[in-house]
Amino acid sequence: MVDPFGRAITYLRVSVTDRCDFRCVYCMSEHMTFLPKADLLTLEELDRLCSAFIARGVRKLRLTGGEPLVRRGIMTLFASLSRHLATGALEELTLTTNGSQLPKYARELAGHGVRRINVSLDTLDPDKFRAITRWGELDKVLAGIDAAQAAGLKVKVNAVALKGVNEDELGSLIEWAHGRGMDLTLIEVMPLGDVGEGRLDQYLPLSMVRARLAERFTLADLDYRTGGPARYVNVAETGGRLGFITPLTHNFCESCNRVRVTCTGILYMCLGQEDAADLRTPLRASESNELLHAAIEEAIARKPKGHDFIIDRRHQRPALSRHMSVTGG
Ligand code: SAM
Repeated sequence: MVDPFGRAITYLRVSVTDRCDFRCVYCMSEHMTFLPKADLLTLEELDRLCSAFIARGVRKLRLTGGEPLVRRGIMTLFASLSRHLATGALEELTLTTNGSQLPKYARELAGHGVRRINVSLDTLDPDKFRAITRWGELDKVLAGIDAAQAAGLKVKVNAVALKGVNEDELGSLIEWAHGRGMDLTLIEVMPLGDVGEGRLDQYLPLSMVRARLAERFTLADLDYRTGGPARYVNVAETGGRLGFITPLTHNFCESCNRVRVTCTGILYMCLGQEDAADLRTPLRASESNELLHAAIEEAIARKPKGHDFIIDRRHQRPALSRHMSVTGG
């Protein structure tokens, strides 16, 4: 799959549920309305959909959400998708998780060929953790990370930089993650969905964070790329890798290789644009995959060049009405 700007689409992110056991303040409002279960693609439909993308050249597949590990029966999807790892059609099967269910599933994930996972964790302070996630418990997530590492999974930690919340703690988060052999990536908060709080109150530009970190650490730019939007530096004092994802201060749309599918089968060609393609209808219209393939092809042909998120005093409303938990973070 090659889009109109010559970018090969080799990376698919699939949200397998919009539900989550946390209510992170920048991601959801406290009282979210979730989709009726009947609207969700079944696990079999998700498998068909992912397999169609793999047949069209997707080499990396990430399951996300919502919280992917709260979807009932999710291990059967990992189990069935792992056949594409066995044939070599798929290079990587992975997930992004809040970590709460990893004590239960880490070993099974490793057994299904998952090698690396992303765990979202914004603070190591239990009270702050509770305040950010509203419902989460830090201890469970830390136990989840232990379980993942014990199962041989390589863990990358993602932290959203939040003004006045974890900004003073980012240095110790780096030392902690690197001390455990984990990369850490910092993310700018994006204006997605109405979360009932002003975005300006949450938004911390990573250019500022980096300047502050550079007073304490020696940061050296790296050429290392994962095909994603993160730009990495080496931290001399810890010997670890630190990533920056800066959709606001600097986007990297020119090298975008990804598309996203929601748990209802809506394909978003760009995280920051409204245009989308319904894949559930062609999926359900026939048992063969012809209509599905045609719909995917037609959608990739209109993948937009990029997005422009803005957060300032005049733009405090969400740039997009849909939450990250819908599109799949
Ligand atoms: N539940 C899983 C998790 O916690 O990683 C997967 C889904 S979650 C939506 C994926 C990532 O998106 C998390 O790292 C979360 O912090 C991030 N995220 C959610 N809303 C965001 C926003 N408005 N701006 C930036 N990152 C956001």
